[in-house]
Amino acid sequence: QDAIDRKEKRSETFKTATTASQPQRCCFPPQTEELGRRAPQWVRDNLVTMCMRCKEPFNAIVRRRHHCRACGYVVCARCSDYKAELQYDGNRLNRVCQECYVFLTGHMVLEDREGKHKGILEKGAAEVSGRSVMCSFLQLLDKNGKGGMRGWFVIPQDDPLVLYIYAAPQDVRAHTSIPLLGYRVKDLPQGHSRHLFQLAQSGQLYTFVADTKELKQRWMRAMARSAEGVTHPEEEDVDSCE
Ligand SMILES: [Zn+2]
Ligand SMILES: [Zn+2]
Repeated sequence: QDAIDRKEKRSETFKTATTASQPQRCCFPPQTEELGRRAPQWVRDNLVTMCMRCKEPFNAIVRRRHHCRACGYVVCARCSDYKAELQYDGNRLNRVCQECYVFLTGHMVLEDREGKHKGILEKGAAEVSGRSVMCSFLQLLDKNGKGGMRGWFVIPQDDPLVLYIYAAPQDVRAHTSIPLLGYRVKDLPQGHSRHLFQLAQSGQLYTFVADTKELKQRWMRAMARSAEGVTHPEEEDVDSCE
């Protein structure tokens, strides 16, 4: 029963992430002209592990999750230590993030916490997933093949030779990127109903676990293409988010 519960919970998360990654193509994040006029769709707490503004990781004690009432982002206290009048709430003062504060009030905020240049890992998971060759949850096993790290894996369309790994589907920064060029993709026999495959290249070895056989096959195909340096998308694979 426990195993079934866990499995159901997993596919629930899976569904949540899938549906959550769809609508932002059209309406998330909200258009700036809509800020404050309409109640935003709140990004769900469990879809982010870091502040969507300053990118510092959340934890239960010193950095907790808050929602900006204008854009709906999940942000830390420091990044949402601002109040602005929101039209949709009868112009009452509401907690907003720094960016929305500047936009809504026209006040300047002196410190600029965001770097001028976005690094390679600085692309948000949702944004990248919306235009991806392939994206889904996967598990990356430890070197000893025992423990592992579940995360949101993406090969972006505009960076199709690199695999980005996010802790959660709405995180604003990937914690790992793996350039795929030159790797061999290896199928592994199914063990304990786990769908395993590997990326191997002179001494480097990554072992992945997919939720389904079909997902594993699609990932293997996508990674093999990246490993060969194929940059144009396979027609049916465009936007094939799972
Ligand atoms: Zn923050
Ligand atoms: Zn905001």
